Amino acid sequence: MSLARPPLGLVLGALLAVASPGVAQRPSSARSGSGSRAAPAREELPLKYEGPATSAEISASDLMTRLYVFADDSMMGREVGTIYNTKGSAYIEREIRRLGLVPAGDSGGYFQNLPLYNYFADGASSMTIAGRALAMGTDVIPLVRAEQRVVFDGLPVVYGGSLRDSSGWLSSAAMAGRVVVLSVPSSVNAIQYRTVSANARFASAAAVLIVYAERVPAGLRPFFVRQTVFERDAMPPAGVPSAFITTAAAISLFGPMDNLRAGAAGSGIAGSLILHKEQAPARNVVGVIPGSDPKLRGQYVAIGAHNDHIGFTTHPVDHDSLRALNAIARPQGADSPEPARLTQLQLIRLRRAIDSLHARHSARADSIFNGADDDGTGSMSVLEIAEAFASAKVRPRRSLLFVWHAGEEMGMWGSEFYTDHPTVPRDSIVAQLNMDMVGRGAASDVTGETRSGQLTHGGPGYLQLIGSRRLSTELGDLIETVNRKEKLGFAFDYSMDANGHPQNIYCRSDHYEYARYGIPIVFLTTGGHADYHEVTDEPQYIDYPHMADVARLVRDVALAVANLDHRVVVDKPRPDPKGSCVQ
Ligand SMILES: [Zn+2]
Repeated sequence: MSLARPPLGLVLGALLAVASPGVAQRPSSARSGSGSRAAPAREELPLKYEGPATSAEISASDLMTRLYVFADDSMMGREVGTIYNTKGSAYIEREIRRLGLVPAGDSGGYFQNLPLYNYFADGASSMTIAGRALAMGTDVIPLVRAEQRVVFDGLPVVYGGSLRDSSGWLSSAAMAGRVVVLSVPSSVNAIQYRTVSANARFASAAAVLIVYAERVPAGLRPFFVRQTVFERDAMPPAGVPSAFITTAAAISLFGPMDNLRAGAAGSGIAGSLILHKEQAPARNVVGVIPGSDPKLRGQYVAIGAHNDHIGFTTHPVDHDSLRALNAIARPQGADSPEPARLTQLQLIRLRRAIDSLHARHSARADSIFNGADDDGTGSMSVLEIAEAFASAKVRPRRSLLFVWHAGEEMGMWGSEFYTDHPTVPRDSIVAQLNMDMVGRGAASDVTGETRSGQLTHGGPGYLQLIGSRRLSTELGDLIETVNRKEKLGFAFDYSMDANGHPQNIYCRSDHYEYARYGIPIVFLTTGGHADYHEVTDEPQYIDYPHMADVARLVRDVALAVANLDHRVVVDKPRPDPKGSCVQ
């Protein structure tokens, strides 16, 4: 599930420092003071696990085998645009190929590539003015938009005028083959005009340098140096190579800038700027199990999850300390507001919790957002459902469309792209069942908040249903019927589905991209918890039997929808596909 609030820096103080090895205690002789063996916590599953081969039946054991592969540290958090996302999607593809699903991605394969690109400056870029090298990323902030290169040595440098006053700009002829420097009035935010070098006036220039670098907020600079861009629409022309430079760099070119006239010549620049635009790894995985009824197999019940998570951090923390802190002060993980400070009582509880955890484990530096629940559980459940259907003797009447979306965490890129460029006719998708975070929901988990702000908790049979009646009352009713008839024992929590709910869950996962086209959806999730979008979201904390129950429910609902003698009826207004989502 994607984040509702922008991430804030964690200010957790010394408690999160990685404990020195000398402090760590081995778990081998963990005994309480009275001499009795300490009871293992319920969540004491192993850190690493290699399970037996999976079987046709949906089982907790299969899901465990799969999730320990998919959310392993070697997947490095599966962030879209990185090779680690490729690794994750490769596992899924290998499995559905083995299971014999029909490929339904691009050009006869299982993958649908997304138009995702990494924009970044080559590390070999360098700029030197009057013998002083400029620091890339601070003195020079490249504005990358294409594969480009400019070699400055020997190029004339000229002052082109003020960014905001095109009437004062140098003529095209006067800029030809030159490095053009533009100043920026103090009232102007040049970030808004960073694509100015695409203006036809500069087409003949060798490069455009904008005097603004020191005014770019420090937090934004890395974004300019390297960014991943989802080119959902045709991009405007890239223009000539350009960059922000500092006022100090401009002064070393021209001297004082105050009374500079357009056309003034500057001293030379040595070095080169090398800009790259490369296709970034990002792919949906798509497979089909054809239906058995020749009249209905042209229609699809879609089952989905997302294959990406949020990568890793370069600032490791002690896993147990963070977990204890979040359990006490941030029970919804990254969805909880950051506590300004802990109370004395919270500090005491925290110290006790960390001590007890470290009595059982060595301290462990952790920097990988494994995304076991988010959305390892959904992705592996979809696989497990695919395996069950692929092995069944009798196939459902309608076809089943399995889609593992990429880039959900960045704003549902994969599902947006899939629904805009579906590989089966969009109108043939009769419903979409989305699983995102389906492996938790214990009584001790804070699964969300009611509209009025009361915390909700999980428990036996806990499952949140979101959006199940927003387009089709029949779909919502059918899910309840399946639960009752199959005696699955779920207690559905609809509180997160309330109109205007501030947590906005209806708009925070892939199903919405289907719903915007009028396709009835249900979003199934066991909800939030303290490990949400934290490095502590690991396979050892997943409730596999409960997860298997959810997968069975989704299989049964998919079967029921696929075997209906009619399409589930849309009886509610359809949203505007190009409008923004309203919870
Ligand atoms: Zn997420």
